Amino acid sequence: MEISFQNTEIAFKIKSDKALLKAYLLFRLIGNNRLVGIGSGLTHWALRVGFPVNWAVKPTIYSHFVGGETIDSCKPAVRALEKFGVKAILDYSVEGKENPEDIQHAFEETLRSVRNSGEDPNIPFAVFKPTAFTLSSVLEKVSAGEVLSPEEQEEKENFYSRIDTLCRTAWELGKPILIDAEDFCYQAHIDEVTESMMQKYNTKEAVVFNTFQMYRTDRLSFLSESISKARAGGYFLGAKFVRGAYMERERERARRLAYPSPIHSDKAGTDKAYNDALRLSMENIDVVSIFNGTHNEESSRLLAELMIAKGMAPNDPRCWFSQLYGMSDHISFNLAHYGFNVAKYLPYGPVKHVLPYLIRRTEENTSVAGQTGRELSLILQERQRRRGS
Ligand SMILES: Cc1cc2nc3c(=O)[nH]c(=O)nc-3n(C[C@H](O)[C@H](O)[C@H](O)COP(=O)(O)OP(=O)(O)OC[C@H]3O[C@@H](n4cnc5c(N)ncnc54)[C@H](O)[C@@H]3O)c2cc1C
Repeated sequence: MEISFQNTEIAFKIKSDKALLKAYLLFRLIGNNRLVGIGSGLTHWALRVGFPVNWAVKPTIYSHFVGGETIDSCKPAVRALEKFGVKAILDYSVEGKENPEDIQHAFEETLRSVRNSGEDPNIPFAVFKPTAFTLSSVLEKVSAGEVLSPEEQEEKENFYSRIDTLCRTAWELGKPILIDAEDFCYQAHIDEVTESMMQKYNTKEAVVFNTFQMYRTDRLSFLSESISKARAGGYFLGAKFVRGAYMERERERARRLAYPSPIHSDKAGTDKAYNDALRLSMENIDVVSIFNGTHNEESSRLLAELMIAKGMAPNDPRCWFSQLYGMSDHISFNLAHYGFNVAKYLPYGPVKHVLPYLIRRTEENTSVAGQTGRELSLILQERQRRRGS
């Protein structure tokens, strides 16, 4: 089977003519570097001073990239995707909260979202950002091996217990759960806690998934080590692969604090590491479950082809493909059309709290060479096809 993502009729069948035009106008807008620069500057300012931005953001980028403010308001999007064989992963996208009330609120909302995934067959995974459940200073200190004060020690234990509750709930419901990766300076401790969760809950199948950011130079050897540990420990490795979303911030921090950048020096290095990670995981598919989180056509095609070469059914439960809601529908819908397991990451949360996520999406769509151009040309192609020209 030849895997192609070029069929725009399949790619955009979820979109009415009006929705397609709206997507076209939006990508035109966020493809403009200057406008995005001004827009994200204004949004950062509005966030700082509490200026209301809902009226401008909600009908535009929010409605394109976000499912809604609550779990319930995401239901229409989940049901619409379901019609075309694409599943959804509800992601409570509130970032950077640092006070106890916000942490407790994020934890309770995420727990609701895990339970909700247990009730809906079209939601195949739960997901969370671990940094939402503790103070970043504690994660950073533990990851750097620094000594903690008694209060920090207590916070570290609370963090473990919150993650354990989320993973145990997912395990009880029989739903896998993805643990997102963020900044390098927090990840060592997150890896440690995730490994402990996998030892507890992955004894029969991969329930807990760690995230491997393949833009990091050490991640291929970390993957190999994680596979060996899973084999030796008699558990399954859940491996979500992404390239990594914080490249500029990581490089800048490394420069500021004078340590070697943890990120591959060029895109080709990241791409090679990513594809090698997929190959290594497929060689170990008896103990690894793969979650391929990418908008990259080559990496999406590669996993599909590796599965075909191994004689696996496209809907083998050990392999999943995923793109963010509002992006790369041509990959998602075409893969689903071939019968592969596909799920869209569907962020939700109040407009104000989702803004950092939205700013990242707009910046990514201008800074990643070709991404917006690709979306625009596919939409144009489909509009022409519908007009019969
Ligand atoms: C379902 C899903 C879940 C995600 N979850 C996470 C997560 O938990 N944590 C997270 O960090 N990100 C996450 N992301 C975002 C992801 O890391 C990427 O930022 C984004 O998907 C773009 O990478 P790509 O593989 O889709 O596409 P591509 O366009 O092929 O790759 C772009 C990426 O390549 C890398 N890159 C670009 N230029 C260079 C360079 N000069 N040198 C080295 N590397 C370079 C960067 O990582 C950049 O984001 C997720 C993405 C998806 C689709």
